[in-house]
Amino acid sequence: MRPEEIIAEQLERHRMREAREAKRTESGAELDAALTSDPFARTHETTLTLERLQQLEWKRFEVIVARWFESLGYRAVGSGTGADGGVDIWLYRPGEQRAFAVVQRKAWTNCVGPKLVRELAGVVSGEGVETGYFVTTSAFTRDALNDRAAQKLTLIDGTEFVRRFNALPEPKRAEIVAEIYAGDFSTPSCPTCGVKLVRRASGADRSTFWDCPNFPRCNYTMRPRVGSWSDWAGK
Ligand SMILES: [Zn+2]
Repeated sequence: MRPEEIIAEQLERHRMREAREAKRTESGAELDAALTSDPFARTHETTLTLERLQQLEWKRFEVIVARWFESLGYRAVGSGTGADGGVDIWLYRPGEQRAFAVVQRKAWTNCVGPKLVRELAGVVSGEGVETGYFVTTSAFTRDALNDRAAQKLTLIDGTEFVRRFNALPEPKRAEIVAEIYAGDFSTPSCPTCGVKLVRRASGADRSTFWDCPNFPRCNYTMRPRVGSWSDWAGK
């Protein structure tokens, strides 16, 4: 694309953004309020549920997964962004300088199929680590579970993660829950900038999506999938 085309596109995008902002609806504001409310922080409940897990945006989900691995004695190092590199978290055994495993996470409500499982198995081979963990808020399809690539990996669906998390000692759960559910835990973050995205509405159907507040420096846009506000992949 030529520079003038890029500038024209950015100007058009800016114009559309301003138009969308002007048309922001009252119901959109209500949904924003619902999304940013913190129903669990008030209850001091430390037992995780699947519903509660699925309310997390992708970045908080990544942190809760990292904290869970840390509570098992591993060092968990996030890749830092949601950029699609196939690895979200590197796992190290105590005292070791070389990662023994990689973790891929998906904060989705739709099932994870065999393609993503094979991709993670490919990353395990490519990076020369021993194994890989695939952790999702949703579930795996039968094809994914039966795929040969799955034999090299540990696949942890939302229900299983909740079960394993709740097996931690209560003080540890309380510590992690207090961190993960502090403040706005549901609004997705920009995978490039790390800042919270801003929800916009556009078009005649008032369809909504998430935009990076750092536009035009950052062009990231995330479209929520139909049917669920918790259904974003973060990449
Ligand atoms: Zn951004």
